Amino acid sequence: MKLIEGKKIAEEILSEMTGEVNKIRSSGERVPHLAAILVGNDGASETYVNGKVKACERVGFHSTLIRLPETLSEKELLEEVGKLNRDERIDGFIVQLPLPGHISQQNIIEAISPLKDVDGFHPANLGRMVLDMPTYLPATPYGILQLLERYEIETNGRHCVVVGRSHIVGSPISILMARNAYPGNCTVTLAHSKTENLREITSAADILIVALGKANFITSDMVKEGAVVIDVGITRLPSALSKNGYKLFGDVKFDEVAPKCSYITPVPGGVGPMTIVSLMKNTLKSYFSGISKNRA
Ligand code: NDP
Repeated sequence: MKLIEGKKIAEEILSEMTGEVNKIRSSGERVPHLAAILVGNDGASETYVNGKVKACERVGFHSTLIRLPETLSEKELLEEVGKLNRDERIDGFIVQLPLPGHISQQNIIEAISPLKDVDGFHPANLGRMVLDMPTYLPATPYGILQLLERYEIETNGRHCVVVGRSHIVGSPISILMARNAYPGNCTVTLAHSKTENLREITSAADILIVALGKANFITSDMVKEGAVVIDVGITRLPSALSKNGYKLFGDVKFDEVAPKCSYITPVPGGVGPMTIVSLMKNTLKSYFSGISKNRA
């Protein structure tokens, strides 16, 4: 069994990006700029956004964090999104999800300019992805592709089973694994909560990608000998043993599944760090595509 060390690969990619940003800076150009909007004080969202700000510092991007109160109306948030769309000094931005219940996530996502949608959630960008057109790939699926590529994992002709059909992970990764490219060219099965005989289906997977958000859900009897297992799930459970009072669990029961796998991602330190890297890569792509005209 080989561990897919997302944290290590993420560091490698961030170092490569730092080199690119250093070149930009030494040529006298302004550096790429990523902005994030955080609404309210949700603990997990704070952690994710802080991780993104730190990654910007790490590679030398300029970053702006806009904190807004939980009581903000949808109209006010749309105005903030509009400001970032128009700000030529910003290459890309994200609105950290989830949003408070009174705000429609879909309305906000659709208001983000597709040219600055570095999370890759806008319908225009998802449509371009489906059509194999240049786009910003959604960050987590993009991170998974990069892991498969860096570990040179064969995907051609393999049976890939994806568990979970969210718009941000399960559905897009199922499309990407089926496309005519590497990584891809898989025969894909997309499973969800209405799937019957899930164990039978996951047990047939050469590549099993799990994104359902239920700690330790995938047990060893659900995994084929020699499978590649990508665990996207992150569930925080209270733990008296850890300093911060909680522990992170994946969707896969790692200890019993790992010995059966050819490759497996750990949680934490697997897919999570790659999601941030992908966001940074999308921002750099936006920068180089010249979306912001005010480069000087
Ligand atoms: P959602 O919570 O939006 O959706 C979960 C999916 O799992 C749904 O499609 C649901 O099916 C399916 N599902 C739920 N229960 C079962 C079941 N018993 N059997 C089969 N399928 C089931 O998923 P997300 O993609 O947003 O998140 C999934 C996990 O990934 C979470 O733990 C999240 O925290 C984590 N995550 C991690 C990221 C990272 O960077 N590592 C990034 C994004 C998410 P149905 O559609 O029928 O309801």
